[in-house]
Amino acid sequence: MAKGESKVFIDPWGAILIEDYIRVINQFGLEPFTDETLKKIPNPNRLMRRKIIFCHRDLNIILDAMKSKKPFYALTGIMPSAQKIHFGTKMVVENLKYFQDQGAITYLLVADLEAASTRGISLKESRKNALEFHIPAYIALGIDPEKTTFYFQSENKDVMRLMCILSNKVTESEFRAIYGSVSPGKVIAALLDVSDILFPQFRGKPMPGVIPVGIDQDPHIRLTRDLARKTKRVFGFVPPAAVYHKFTPSLDGSFKMSKSKPETYIELPEEPESISRKLWNAFTGGRETLEKQKRLGGVPEKCVIFEFFKQHLIEKDEELDKIYFECKSGALICGDCKHHAIELMSKFMSEFNRKLEKARDLIPSLNFIK
Ligand code: SF4
Repeated sequence: MAKGESKVFIDPWGAILIEDYIRVINQFGLEPFTDETLKKIPNPNRLMRRKIIFCHRDLNIILDAMKSKKPFYALTGIMPSAQKIHFGTKMVVENLKYFQDQGAITYLLVADLEAASTRGISLKESRKNALEFHIPAYIALGIDPEKTTFYFQSENKDVMRLMCILSNKVTESEFRAIYGSVSPGKVIAALLDVSDILFPQFRGKPMPGVIPVGIDQDPHIRLTRDLARKTKRVFGFVPPAAVYHKFTPSLDGSFKMSKSKPETYIELPEEPESISRKLWNAFTGGRETLEKQKRLGGVPEKCVIFEFFKQHLIEKDEELDKIYFECKSGALICGDCKHHAIELMSKFMSEFNRKLEKARDLIPSLNFIK
């Protein structure tokens, strides 16, 4: 960390957007996701190709496993707090799907105990939200239920056993150094996360695993890797790898996302009228006047609409490049661009809703391990 720079604390339970990704990479010893990294990845997905995944930890062990066809796993957890998800979760699901398609043994767990300890949500409500909405949503976004192992934290005795074993391997000062503060709820939630991440190796055999996350979840990854090393002699755990995606920016262009300002974000699902209104009012990289826009061009690097195209709405790279260069040259105007974004987002949302309904029918046939 450069002299005079303040330390960044990442809060996995907070709602923040990181402004300076390079600083985060340097401070936490993450590995940047470079062109060289990309060259080694078979069939990289949109988020990888566009460096929306911007860093990783130990991805090479996963790439080696993929290349040599050795077993590895990919895992993520559902926080079943409401019947909505945000676009960051969509990216997690897309990355989980990528690794599933590459042969990962896939785990999808419902963090019902964590929801109880950090958000006061009852197990009953978590179960309802997970079964009626979250699991169908993950399937609608591409997860193959037949290739996925599902469980609820509260029903998985091995996760609880592992949590008890690991609880005396971490001190209060280590916890404080990673999370910035300590409270009983946070300690329980963090140890549950660690136990979930290591569970496939605890019940099965040691093997590499990859956890796709937003950068806000890195404290859990660091704690897990630390505890995996501390208990390696007993359990042989392989510290998990992780890939980290950037955040989807707030619609007002700020780096702070606030639940109290629903106009600044779009969730899944969302009604067509509010999609139109929110995208129409979104911050762009357009100039003050049409004349200036035509003469100087826009600034797609600062444009929330362009970021939505890049992260979520446009799959073909040539199509995205065309928008970029037309914006830069002044050939494109923001009004037309917003109409295009609204059209693509509405199409995506209606497709999502259709697949969600279909996925709901699969829930009774899913097998939840205990
Ligand atoms: Fe953004 Fe499109 Fe305007 Fe360019 S023309 S600044 S990409 S909205």
